[in-house]
Amino acid sequence: MTQTATTRLLIIGPPGAGKGTQAHRIAEGYAVPAISTGDIFRANIKGATELGKKVQAIIETGELVPDSLTNEIVADRLAQADAATGFLLDGYPRTVDQVAALDAMLEGESLDAVVLLEADTDEVVARLLNRAQLEGRADDTEEVIRHRQNVYAEQTAPLIDLFSKRGILVTVDGMGSVDEVAERIASGLNGLLSAKVVS
Ligand code: ADP
Repeated sequence: MTQTATTRLLIIGPPGAGKGTQAHRIAEGYAVPAISTGDIFRANIKGATELGKKVQAIIETGELVPDSLTNEIVADRLAQADAATGFLLDGYPRTVDQVAALDAMLEGESLDAVVLLEADTDEVVARLLNRAQLEGRADDTEEVIRHRQNVYAEQTAPLIDLFSKRGILVTVDGMGSVDEVAERIASGLNGLLSAKVVS
């Protein structure tokens, strides 16, 4: 029996679908690190690092950070020891070019499963406006939230078809309690991943 003990996962979905919360649950379940490009950028903005200074204005308008910069950050993070047996990416890849960059980083191994967290636009905008009051994220104003939804529809949604064609997409309804959604994700991933563990 060959040992294929890696679990490479991605969670994708519109801003406000609850990816971050579910990402931590999934990562814990599979004992892999949750890697969020948004969190990495926000930590750098908070720490006023060179990277933080470069990306702050872009993030505050809801645009995407340039692929070249984002790809480099992810390559560095995936090279760390804790990602050797797998990871759960949250918020990356987000463009078709980033998918190509990730494929190159993984040298043909590529992702095992992609969780698509579906959510209704009006509901996610309401959630994000609520979060804005609690957390004060600079990109959580109504105008920027609407723009982020458009950026998602234009640049990230096309990835869904691509992952579906690869046969690794698990589509989950993101509406409901955190526990309900977590349960749907767990059973969807179980089904897909257990079907793969053969060789
Ligand atoms: P959300 O899913 O709510 O938009 P994230 O925390 O994933 O939040 O991302 C926040 C912001 O960080 C994005 O709007 C974008 O500006 C930047 N960002 C995060 N991930 C990427 C990425 N893969 N490529 C480009 N920009 C990114």
